[in-house]
Amino acid sequence: MLSRNIVIGMLTAVGLLVAAFLTLDVDIRVKDVQAAPAKSSTEPSRAVYYPGTEELAPDELRVIACGSGMPMPRLKQAAACFLIELGNGDKFIFDMGTGSLDRIYALGIPLDYLDKVFLTHLHMDHMGDLQAFYIYGPQNNRSVPLRVWGPGGGGTRPEWGTKASLEHMEKSWAWMTGTLAGTIDTSSFKIDVTEYDWSKVNNVIYNENGAVIKTIPAIHFEQSASFILEWNGLKVAFVGDSLPNKWWVENTQGMDLSIFEAFFPPNLAMAKWGFSQQEALNAVTTIHSTAQFFGKMMAMTKPKHAVAYHFQNDFDTLPIMMKAVESVYDGPVDYAQDFMVWNVTKEGTRTRMVVPNPEGFPSPPLHEKEMAASGERYQTPDWVIDGWPEAVTPLAEEIYSDFNKEHGTDYKFQLKK
Ligand SMILES: [Zn+2]
Ligand SMILES: [Zn+2]
Repeated sequence: MLSRNIVIGMLTAVGLLVAAFLTLDVDIRVKDVQAAPAKSSTEPSRAVYYPGTEELAPDELRVIACGSGMPMPRLKQAAACFLIELGNGDKFIFDMGTGSLDRIYALGIPLDYLDKVFLTHLHMDHMGDLQAFYIYGPQNNRSVPLRVWGPGGGGTRPEWGTKASLEHMEKSWAWMTGTLAGTIDTSSFKIDVTEYDWSKVNNVIYNENGAVIKTIPAIHFEQSASFILEWNGLKVAFVGDSLPNKWWVENTQGMDLSIFEAFFPPNLAMAKWGFSQQEALNAVTTIHSTAQFFGKMMAMTKPKHAVAYHFQNDFDTLPIMMKAVESVYDGPVDYAQDFMVWNVTKEGTRTRMVVPNPEGFPSPPLHEKEMAASGERYQTPDWVIDGWPEAVTPLAEEIYSDFNKEHGTDYKFQLKK
């Protein structure tokens, strides 16, 4: 009979042998999948998208979610905003909800390329950051006017239309734009508004450079529309907010990419938003498309690739959303987060995540700055300037003197004209 110690000794030896084999096995597998990089270089992972490192093919377009969330502000998700970039260099922003501006800036795209914004409707969660985008333009090297397309007409009172809204927006920043005159190039404080008739079906509101953008009515109060973009044989459809509707069903069949809202199911709305039963039911079935409605719209239009957005996408909400959608739709669908990116070609859609730059600076200007175009320099009232402590003047003059020496210039420090 073997002694207890010998048995333990044998078991330990077998254990060590097994452990050795396991270690060897792991080593082999790791070596198989990871080619040793050269010591002096690194290889970026192509499973993610680094902005500015990939040219689009002439027949390819890219869509980036710069806001996939809700009107309720949160760090993780901005409100509705999607950037569309075409292989010919054209770029469009579809909606611009609160929080989306930071995401757009984190892509590092010079603002002169981002002069076209299309609004589906005038809710804060679809246009809240437009004013910041417009106002920050000149300080961030935008030198072209901002072009905005938004709904109006269709029997809706004119004071509710995009033109009236943006006229008031411009006026509300009179002090800021006025005081910046002559200090920086403010020539891009121009806004070019095109109001489109939201009630028309397949209404072409943009047709330039081979790209066509059409609108169809949405069911979301009144004066709300959805967009269909057609370019180079590719088609992308986008809902801002809408219930299921016949215009969507009739006009967005077989899209390459179909982006539609998907709100929480009623129970989740109550649990997460603190809504009453009546509030929850109203919100997700009479104003917005709850997840099942999203699934039904996709099932009825069969896009090549679908995107669900406009909900808080978390570890605990996502499985509930997926279950609700999958109860009516079994096609390919992504549940959007901020910085999800889709490369769309005739061959299909590739989904990845953007690696954004959280430490962005203004991208360089693309045009020469025109100080003269920004008008006569604004002058602060004398009595305010008289609050300047004379003891600081020598320091200011030293800064100017050093600057002039370095740049071969002749600027003089003066607070009064
Ligand atoms: Zn809305
Ligand atoms: Zn919305």
